[in-house]
Amino acid sequence: MSSLSPRYDVAVIGGGHNGLVSACYLAKAGLSVLVLERNAELGGATRSAKAFEGMDARLSVYSYLVSLFPQKILDDLGLNLNLLPRRTASYSPVLEDGKLRELLLRNDASDGNREAFIARTCSDSDYSGYLALQDIRIHLASVICPSLT
Ligand SMILES: Cc1cc2nc3c(=O)[nH]c(=O)nc-3n(C[C@H](O)[C@H](O)[C@H](O)COP(=O)(O)OP(=O)(O)OC[C@H]3O[C@@H](n4cnc5c(N)ncnc54)[C@H](O)[C@@H]3O)c2cc1C
Repeated sequence: MSSLSPRYDVAVIGGGHNGLVSACYLAKAGLSVLVLERNAELGGATRSAKAFEGMDARLSVYSYLVSLFPQKILDDLGLNLNLLPRRTASYSPVLEDGKLRELLLRNDASDGNREAFIARTCSDSDYSGYLALQDIRIHLASVICPSLT
């Protein structure tokens, strides 16, 4: 605690990705910033941690969120970070009459998504609806995203 200054321009409560990005922008703008994080590790929902003693495996909290990190912020903050898209778009398991029914949608092999829908719903119409929803989502994101960044 002795290394803390007596005064800061801004205190950011919480060192999740939003707090850290905000702190970086504020510091780049010349303000002195204090980030206060209650956990031992920074990153909030984007962090991963060793869950099993002696095993060199790290489990994600919601670290897939890192893959949504906007390129504009990477560029603004001069971060050297290469992000990869995830292969799975979504996985929806449902127990019906004691049997597992599942819908696995892929980003990397979207040709198979139609078959996945048909296997789950026995009809083409839900897949058409899914594609229509994707178009709306892409349009909405193209409008909203610039206002967020
Ligand atoms: C089940 C689930 C699924 C989600 N799915 C998606 C998704 O698909 N897509 C998507 O975009 N978002 C999703 N989200 C939302 C996303 O996780 C959050 O919007 C995002 O993590 C918020 O980031 P943040 O930096 O604001 O907060 P967080 O990542 O939550 O970080 C907050 C930090 O503040 C710290 N903190 C809190 N209180 C204090 C305090 N009093 N003092 C000091 N430190 C404090 C915490 O320890 C933490 O480190 C999901 C969330 C959940 C729970």
